[in-house]
Amino acid sequence: MKLFGAEHERTLLSFYGDGAAEFDSLLRSFSAVLEEKVVPLSLALDQGKGTIGETRRVLFEQGLCKLSHPGGYGGMGLPFGVYTLAMELAGAADASTAMSLGIHNTVADAVAQFGSGEQKRRLLPSLLSGEKLAAFALTEPSSGSDARSMRTKATKDGKHFVLDGSKMFITNAGEADVYLVFASTGEGHGAFIVEASNPGLKVGAEMREKLGMRGSHTAEVRLEKCRVDAEDSLLGSEGAAFEYAKKLLDSSRIVMGMICVGIARTAYGKALTYAKGRELFGKNLSDFQLTREKVANAAIEMDASRLLCLHASRLKERGLPFTSEAAQAKVLATEMAVRTCDAAIQLLGGYGYTSDDVHRHWRDARLLTVGEGASEVLRLVIASEELEREG
Ligand SMILES: Cc1cc2nc3c(=O)[nH]c(=O)nc-3n(C[C@H](O)[C@H](O)[C@H](O)COP(=O)(O)OP(=O)(O)OC[C@H]3O[C@@H](n4cnc5c(N)ncnc54)[C@H](O)[C@@H]3O)c2cc1C
Repeated sequence: MKLFGAEHERTLLSFYGDGAAEFDSLLRSFSAVLEEKVVPLSLALDQGKGTIGETRRVLFEQGLCKLSHPGGYGGMGLPFGVYTLAMELAGAADASTAMSLGIHNTVADAVAQFGSGEQKRRLLPSLLSGEKLAAFALTEPSSGSDARSMRTKATKDGKHFVLDGSKMFITNAGEADVYLVFASTGEGHGAFIVEASNPGLKVGAEMREKLGMRGSHTAEVRLEKCRVDAEDSLLGSEGAAFEYAKKLLDSSRIVMGMICVGIARTAYGKALTYAKGRELFGKNLSDFQLTREKVANAAIEMDASRLLCLHASRLKERGLPFTSEAAQAKVLATEMAVRTCDAAIQLLGGYGYTSDDVHRHWRDARLLTVGEGASEVLRLVIASEELEREG
């Protein structure tokens, strides 16, 4: 399956007009590399036979994390929407790798937005090139959606902070070189860059029994008398990190939505190929009207999801509020991906249920209605934004 299709060409034209040709050729060549070097390794990653470092390296080499960061520290300064489209293609090639990079890039975004000049110089070039890998550590064993109630503490001790607590379900744990750790400081919340080499940072056992996203690494991260230098480590203001997290997650939700558009397209592509070749009752499966309804519904929902993700991206690019649109995009795209991957399993019948190369897409998509803001929580965010707007 070609990752970059006519729908991308048209979408770029409608959103970016004159700039579309440049982005078109960039994304086209990016897809060609993904088709050659990532797609063939994706099933093995799900089966625990490959290493994500290999596929992640390809995406880093293609400059995925540089695309939308401003120049100066290695970024290319392209529109955020172009980055999210690249993430759709990455998600279509391998969901685990795309998610690992998306989360890594959220940490780079945190440094770029809230870090000091020194922190940017020290961290951004290596994060954007992939020389260093990052993890985002917000969730705790007793708080996920209710992140504000986190129990991890950062206690001031002269020019240092001492972090104590535990972070749960952390993607890239064990592989990352740096962790962005959120902790309560007494003044509010702080966001701290902690090096993996810090003796107070301990990574728990790898969570191998995950339903999907099996290529990615997930583990608990414990902070035990983890001493960090305040100037090197604390991003921005001591009390403001919860607001930073909300801002970072707004952007990251668009990215996770786009990864889901990619996952859905891959599952859908496999189902279409099968439906066109499967003969039953003297016809092809694709000739039946009930099949065509599934095809049409998936096409409508995938396009609508991509468009809403791009709309939220364009609002961000223009410095306009986009919290509600990002939440809407994520809810629509993630729930759409679960439905579309489910329809793909249905179309492939027994083969869909028994082939991990089909059901893995449903398993991958399923995470993203929970992670980075569960659908229930995002609906509450959307409703309160709407009520405020209308009030
Ligand atoms: C594979 C994986 C990777 C992850 N990677 C990371 C990572 O890199 N960094 C990180 O910080 N976190 C990560 N997470 C954590 C993820 O973001 C949380 O699991 C998610 O935020 C939900 O939190 P929770 O699991 O504590 O569930 P809870 O918050 O306890 O929610 C439980 C259930 O309650 C529902 N719910 C919540 N609030 C409401 C409400 N107000 N009304 C009705 N229902 C509600 C939820 O939708 C959910 O169904 C990851 C999780 C997984 C599984």
